[in-house]
Order: sequence, then C-alpha cells, then structure tokens
Amino acid sequence: MKEIERIIALSNAFGPSGFEDEVSKLVKDELKGFDNLKEDKMRNVTCVVNPKGKGPKVMLDAHLDEVGLIVQAVKPNGTMNFLTLGRIMPPNLPSSSFKIRNKEGVDIPAVVAAKPPHFTSAKERDAAPQIENMVLDCGSVSQKMTEEVYKVGIASPAVPNINCIYDEENRLFFGKAFDCRIGVAAEIETLKRLKGKKLPCVVQGSFAAQEEVGDRGVYCNYKELKPDVMICFEGCPADDTFQDPYMVQAALYKGPMLRHFDVSMITHPRFQKFALDLARKKNIPVQESVRSGGGTNAGRIHQEGVPCIVIGIPVRYIHSSNCYCTLDDYEAAVHLAVELAQALSQEVVDSF
Ligand SMILES: [Zn+2]
Repeated sequence: MKEIERIIALSNAFGPSGFEDEVSKLVKDELKGFDNLKEDKMRNVTCVVNPKGKGPKVMLDAHLDEVGLIVQAVKPNGTMNFLTLGRIMPPNLPSSSFKIRNKEGVDIPAVVAAKPPHFTSAKERDAAPQIENMVLDCGSVSQKMTEEVYKVGIASPAVPNINCIYDEENRLFFGKAFDCRIGVAAEIETLKRLKGKKLPCVVQGSFAAQEEVGDRGVYCNYKELKPDVMICFEGCPADDTFQDPYMVQAALYKGPMLRHFDVSMITHPRFQKFALDLARKKNIPVQESVRSGGGTNAGRIHQEGVPCIVIGIPVRYIHSSNCYCTLDDYEAAVHLAVELAQALSQEVVDSF
C-alpha cells in the first residue's frame, strides 16, 4: 500500500485493546518479506530488518490497539451497559456513533444514547456525564432482539464509527485511532526505508497489543527481542488548542514531539539529547515536552534498564472519536527515526 492509503487503512481498522486482529493482519501484510516476522497469540507482531547485522539492538515500537468500548450487559429494553477499553472522557461519549463487532464478526452501528432535552430534569442537565448512566443502543427493542437479531451481547467490543478523510491540500487526516495508528504507520514506513541499508545497529520492529489498558503487549515483544535501546512511536495529544502559546509543546505541523517526562518515565537524558541534537543537525522539526500526565510503552520497558525515547506525532482530540493529525508531522517522525537508526552505533549506545 502507498503511505497515505496505509494511514487511512490503519485508522479505519477495528482494533480496540484485546481485539487487535485486523490491525496486526494489516501490519503483517505490509511487512511481508521481512526477516523473523512473527505474531504471538496475543497479536503482538515482531520482525527484524537486518538479523545478520552487527551492533546494538534497536527496537522500534508502536501499539496496535485503540481506545474503545466493551459491552457489559444487555438490558431488557435492548440497550447495553458498557465499560471503556482504555481511558475515554465521559463527556466525549454521548451521541457518538460507534460500531459494535458482533459474535459473527459483522459491525453493527450503534450510538451512545443521549437523553433528549424533553426528558431531562434541570438537575440531570447540570450533572457531569457518567459512564454508568450511559448505554449503547443499536436500535433494538429487547434483549432478545439485541442478542439474537444483532448478535451483540456480553463482551462485544466497539470503536468509533468513523471513516478517515485525507485533505490533500492541507496534508491533514481526520479520523479515529491515530493513537497509535499514525505511530504504527510511521514505524512500518521506517522499517521499509531501512530495509537493505547498511546500518550500524540491528533494527527490530515491535507492534504491541493492549497498550491502552496498561502497556501489556510490549513486554512480550521485549522478551522476544531483548533490545539494547527502544524508540517508541506514539500518537500523542496535541495541546495547541488548549494551552497558552508559551505552554504549547505538541502543535500540528511542527514536527514530532520528543517527551522528556511523563508519569510513566523520565526519558533517558543522554539518548534524548542525542536524538534532539541529531534532529537539529538534519533540520528535522521537533518539539519537546514535559507532561503532567500520560504514559507510553516506553514507561514499561525503560524499567528493564533499556534507554528509551518517545517520538510522538501530535494528534488533536486523542482518545475521542474525531481526531486530526498531519502528514508533515508523520514524515518528520519517519525521517528522524531513519536518521537515528543510521547513527546508533555501538559506540553511541555505549556512551548512554
Ligand atoms: Zn498511544
């Protein structure tokens, strides 16, 4: 697939945490012909660009899953209680269109029901929305109809019912799941560009399941690949529509964000400096951030003593149904990762 087509396909793919099959298949199809291409039973995918190469093992990682919903129970009136897979802000949910994958693998359109104003009391209108007061509705009128006609029920997963749009003039994508599918796309493209190149390191690909529920899949890939350093691609939250200008650290069109700090990791300062210096030397736009929240797969792996950096591609309205990211930021992220892979020699990694 061509790059833009691949980004759109990855954004559209159904893959909430624990149900990454469609995404892992797309990744495997794109990486056909790569050495040691493997998928484990959790749907984690790994490969190696140059298994006979010498030097430190550099693991590139991106997560396959997206935030979504899971049906908890079907009510007698046919609507469904649900929980979230990953963190979704409750106010983002009412009236959102979702698709529920039913027991036969068919996607059933549904909405997170919002009570019309005609039925709400003043107290209800002022109250903060709570997940436990919301339901998914696929248009059914009974539990029997939901379960037997729509074939949806306990543990059916759901994702936003959105098709990705690409605005060519502004190089802008509008769709769902760019956290972390834009990272997955950047990693695939980086691996493809590195294939056949003479490198000072061994480059490994990791595509991990279940990041959004606690960085679960990446640890399996870590055990499989035993890297010396890790570069974590992410779709990271853009802040350019929320913050005062002096606090904006991840704006659209300004390049990937290299995160110094979040609640899961203090980024390895020497690896981080090496990456930032290299970006400046190669005229690749980058942004830097220090975050009071957040967390990535690197948060799990750096605790194994592996120096990690995060290359985050800014995504507006992350963990909601409607997100923006840009081709410019994606391209700069790929460019930086390709340069890093060509620079991470044993001597450089030893200096960390
Ligand atoms: Zn993510």
